[in-house]
Amino acid sequence: MKEKVAIVGFGVCGRVAALMLAKHYDVHVFECDDRFTKASAGYVAAAMLAPLAESVHASTHVVDLGTESLDLWPKLLAQLETEVFFQRAGTLVVAHAQDQGAMAHFRQHLKPLENIEHKPRNIDHAALVQLEPQLSVRFTHALHLPNEGQLDNLGFYQHSYATLKKRGAHFHFDQQICPHKLDNGLFNTVVDCRGLGAKHDIKLRGVRGEVARVIAPEVHLTRPVRLMHPRYPIYIAPKPHNRFVIGATEIESDDLRPTSVRSALELLSAAYSVHSGFAEAHIEALQVGLRPATLDHEPYISKQGNVISINGLYRHGFMIAPALVKQALAHMNLSM
Ligand SMILES: Cc1cc2nc3c(=O)[nH]c(=O)nc-3n(C[C@H](O)[C@H](O)[C@H](O)COP(=O)(O)OP(=O)(O)OC[C@H]3O[C@@H](n4cnc5c(N)ncnc54)[C@H](O)[C@@H]3O)c2cc1C
Repeated sequence: MKEKVAIVGFGVCGRVAALMLAKHYDVHVFECDDRFTKASAGYVAAAMLAPLAESVHASTHVVDLGTESLDLWPKLLAQLETEVFFQRAGTLVVAHAQDQGAMAHFRQHLKPLENIEHKPRNIDHAALVQLEPQLSVRFTHALHLPNEGQLDNLGFYQHSYATLKKRGAHFHFDQQICPHKLDNGLFNTVVDCRGLGAKHDIKLRGVRGEVARVIAPEVHLTRPVRLMHPRYPIYIAPKPHNRFVIGATEIESDDLRPTSVRSALELLSAAYSVHSGFAEAHIEALQVGLRPATLDHEPYISKQGNVISINGLYRHGFMIAPALVKQALAHMNLSM
């Protein structure tokens, strides 16, 4: 008989942990929401896998986890019964003429990564025409961060559930669980992936983020674009079927009220300044999520008895979850 493992929380970490464990263990998932987990931060995320771009603010530890995870994602996604959009065509960074200072600042603060494939490349106008023709209308040059990736978070959410269900994982939705109070005799290991739901046990705060999801048939961008701006830097992440995620605000607050007019104006006007085709786009959703953050923005793994807690993924949940969860599960000597 397989050992029983409980996973509490079915956001990004919970799904990654369940996929890593489903082959060798009898997996039970407990989630306080329904199976769509629309309140999880991962449901709202743009799911960019951008360790180099994030290195401007993130620690070397986080950047290393992100670099390792870029290679782990394809293996995880290969387990799913339905293909989920994943690409590694890099990120393009651009700035309008008046914001070249912000671009120079960003370039200067990128951490040097050892792998030569990750080195940033200056792109002149001729190269931009080749790489992303529609961007070359408004921008004369760009910075290419070549090895970065992104995936379709909604596809991952949908198909991770379907695959795990088919493989016999047990789901217990609408169950608000305290991992330390689960019956010890029933589960050999409990993996605590509650995100901000663990804030009474772990020193965490919510960092509000807002994104706009739009359908823009006139916009043809094939890779994520980051617009440098002194007040509100934004990114535009293309997803399948002419969809784009425009994000994201970062506000020190755990307020989950709908997107403010100010944020919507900033996100959408910045997107329009990158490509006029966004004027004809349709807004599918304005979404809000809370990033679970520790005080120092470092991810958190802690073991107490048979409970392992993984948390504090902040703005890097998709970027680092595979490597971080793998580390945590190895800590418990679990086979993957
Ligand atoms: C606007 C925005 C944009 C983002 N963009 C990116 C990006 O481009 N790239 C990137 O890498 N990251 C991004 N992130 C960050 C990423 O979404 C988070 O880091 C990640 O979702 C955290 O994963 P998690 O599993 O810890 O928490 P969550 O994804 O929040 O999942 C936690 C789950 O636990 C459940 N839960 C909570 N308490 C309990 C309980 N007591 N019992 C049972 N279940 C419980 C919740 O309902 C939820 O489903 C973004 C976040 C936001 C908000």
